[in-house]
Amino acid sequence: MRTQDNASRTGCVYIVGAGPGDPDLLTIKARRLLGIADVVVFDKLVSVPILDLIPSGTTRIFAGKVARHHYMPQPDINKLLVQLARSQRCVVRLKGGDPFVFGRGGEEAVYLAEHGVRFEVVPGVTSASGCSAYAGIPLTHRDLAHGVRYVTGHTRDNEPLDLDWPRLADPATTLVVYMGRTSLARLSERLITYGLPADTPAAAVINGTRPDQQTLIATLATLPAVLSTLDGAPPTLLIIGRVVALAGTLDWFSPKGADVVCDTVQAD
Ligand code: SAH
Repeated sequence: MRTQDNASRTGCVYIVGAGPGDPDLLTIKARRLLGIADVVVFDKLVSVPILDLIPSGTTRIFAGKVARHHYMPQPDINKLLVQLARSQRCVVRLKGGDPFVFGRGGEEAVYLAEHGVRFEVVPGVTSASGCSAYAGIPLTHRDLAHGVRYVTGHTRDNEPLDLDWPRLADPATTLVVYMGRTSLARLSERLITYGLPADTPAAAVINGTRPDQQTLIATLATLPAVLSTLDGAPPTLLIIGRVVALAGTLDWFSPKGADVVCDTVQAD
C-alpha cells in the first residue's frame, strides 16, 4: 500500500484528460503540465494538435492500441508508470477525453496508489460533452430529456451486451454510447425490443470536435445500416434520444451541417 516514505521518493504521475481532440478544450492545468513534463505517455485517442503542444525535448511514449490490438498491454503500462515515477519528477499520463470515464484511469490510479507513487488526476472534457456540444445536441433539455446515461458498447470477445435494458429503453433519457460502433446493431435491436421507439432519433458523431468531425443523424432502427457503410475505425460516439432532433438546428460547428440521413427526424 501507499506509504509516505515510498511516495516521497518518487516523482508525480499526472493522469491527465486531453479531451476529445480540439486543443482549445484542454484545461489550463493540462496545458501547463504538458509544458513542464519530463515524459508524456499517451494514448491513440490523443489528437495530433495536442501532441504538437509537447516541447520537442520531452520524451514521448506511445501506449495506445489500434483496433483490438494492444501495443502495450495494460499491466505493462501500469509498470511503466511506476518505473518512470522512480526516475523522473513529472510524468504525464495523457488520455483521450476524461481519464475517469471509460479510460482505465481508475485502474492506473489504483496501481500507482498500491505502489506508493504520488499521483494527481486532471479531468478532461469527456467525449459525451465535447461531441454533443460540437454536434449541437444538448444532452438534456427540459422538454425532451430529463437525464442522460453513459454506457459502453464494448464487450470482450463478442460476448452479449450485458446492459440494464429496461432502464436504458427510456424515451425521456438520453443515451450516450462509448465504443459502440461494432455493437450498434445488437444495441439497437435490444433497445427496440425493450420498448424504445424505433424512430427515436440517433446520431453518430465521428472524430468529434476535430476539423474532420462528421455527424450522421438517423433513427435507432436505421443508424446501424448507415454506420456500416463508413470506412476505417475513427473514434465514434453514439447519442440516442429525442434531443438528437435538435442537431439540424443547432449544429454550429460542421461546415455543411449535420448529415441527416433519415428524414423522419424533425425537431418540433
Ligand atoms: N476517456 C474517454 C473515452 C475513452 S473510450 C472520454 O472520456 O471521452 C473511447 C471511446 O470514446 C471511443 O470509442 C468513442 O466512442 C469515444 N470518443 C473519444 N473521443 C472521441 C471523438 N473525438 N469523437 C467521437 N468519439 C470519441
